[in-house]
Amino acid sequence: MASIGHVAVGMALGRYGAGEAPPRRVATMMLGLSALSMLPDADVIAFALRIPYEAPWGHRGASHSLMLAAGVALLVAVGVRVAKGPVLKAGLLTFAAVGSHGLLDALTTGGLGAALLWPFTAARYFFPVRPIPVAPIGLGMLSARGLYVVMMELMLFVPFWGYALWPRRRAVRLAGE
Ligand SMILES: [Zn+2]
Repeated sequence: MASIGHVAVGMALGRYGAGEAPPRRVATMMLGLSALSMLPDADVIAFALRIPYEAPWGHRGASHSLMLAAGVALLVAVGVRVAKGPVLKAGLLTFAAVGSHGLLDALTTGGLGAALLWPFTAARYFFPVRPIPVAPIGLGMLSARGLYVVMMELMLFVPFWGYALWPRRRAVRLAGE
């Protein structure tokens, strides 16, 4: 994936989590959850460290597991607790954002699958149906194939863009309610 789908899901989760909050807070939550939904791809550093793609800590390895998503969710929940915020909501939204990443990558047409069940198994998983074209790595994105991947992701995630960006009127409370 070209990360566009991950951003779409993160923004939709942020929009959902922010509810009727003021626009600034909505924007902050959308930004934060988009960053979290892209976080597992920080593992591309494995290529620079010469960790092979198929190794447990290689690209789409442990970083793309549901266990890692749970770990990040726990960290965020602890941080939110210290700040006296809504712990459960923050934890669940974080788990959904980070956890969705590996699941979406398992819907792509190429590369290796995601190690969703690490540390129980380092096996890489794909779903039987894979509608999302895999993105060329690095500068390969600046090609006709890269453009095709970007367009496809923009289209496939229209429901998420729509939900995240659709203008909403703030609820008007009637007197006496
Ligand atoms: Zn990924």
